[in-house]
Amino acid sequence: MSRPQALRRTLGAVALALCVLSAEPALANEKLVVYSARIEALVKPMFDAYTKETGVEIQAVTDKEGALVERLKAEGTNTPADLLITTDAGNLWQAAQDGVLRPIDSPALAAAVPANLRDPDQQWFGLTVRARTLFFNTNMAKAAELSSYEDLAQPAWRGKLCLRSSKKVYNQSLVAMLISEHGEARAEEIVRGWVANLATEPFADDTRMLEAVAAGQCAVGIANTYYYGRLMEKKPDLPLGLFWANQSTGGVHINVTGAGLTRHGKQPAAAQKLLEWLASPRAQNLFADVNFESPVNPAVAPSAAVQAWGSFKASPLNVVEAGRLQATAVRLMDRAGYR
Ligand code: FE
Repeated sequence: MSRPQALRRTLGAVALALCVLSAEPALANEKLVVYSARIEALVKPMFDAYTKETGVEIQAVTDKEGALVERLKAEGTNTPADLLITTDAGNLWQAAQDGVLRPIDSPALAAAVPANLRDPDQQWFGLTVRARTLFFNTNMAKAAELSSYEDLAQPAWRGKLCLRSSKKVYNQSLVAMLISEHGEARAEEIVRGWVANLATEPFADDTRMLEAVAAGQCAVGIANTYYYGRLMEKKPDLPLGLFWANQSTGGVHINVTGAGLTRHGKQPAAAQKLLEWLASPRAQNLFADVNFESPVNPAVAPSAAVQAWGSFKASPLNVVEAGRLQATAVRLMDRAGYR
């Protein structure tokens, strides 16, 4: 074989290989794998609806967010996962830091998700909104006595405050947002005040914390709204009130459950379609019904149960701050003796 002939053959083989590599696998496969740190019951209704609408099967692999991110890192380019869903901007930010997400430029997502509820670098997008606000025992405190997260550090609340553990990302995000708003020194003062006011050791979860408030172990505590929704659905007679924090100042702390495309997923176009669908009104209405959270898409109304809590002013800060200041928040809480 002459040299030009050999070269032509080699080039032909390379061209063929490139064709095979660039073949769009999304349609050939018709199945997407989602790693979800949300339990199956909270994602399945949306996935079932998507399969019904498009014929695309979705396999959900559920686990804790840390385990899923470790798995994505270990699997690298071999990962079967196309999408990662997890709660809290702090976790989403961490996943982006760990390099397991892929930025996407999506006008549909930019239109559906408010700018402060998605990653400025477009690696993740909020899908549902939850507020972390104040809950009080209606026999022990009046709404008129409550005002803000900052106020719970005042001596008036000595021995009357219940909190969940500082190990939970929800509290790390809340403190990160306080740092973002007030600076580190003032935020530390607030957290020290909380610790001084604790009625008892921090709780392992929001529900137990709310039950302690209802039982009168403390007058007030901080929790995510959907835990209150779930608890009151089961026990509507509990003497537990919801109070929207910081309405005359920066607004109540909100956070998201969100999702991003995996860095090494093999079907980015199909995964993007699913993510865009999850932010669309059809899916957002389903989200609104499963967990007492609010749709991230402002075109969709929250469920009647959530609307019954009343409207509120939310903090306009970008939730990415919860991630950016997470390590600072953890160190601050440790210094302040918040366990
Ligand atoms: Fe939760």
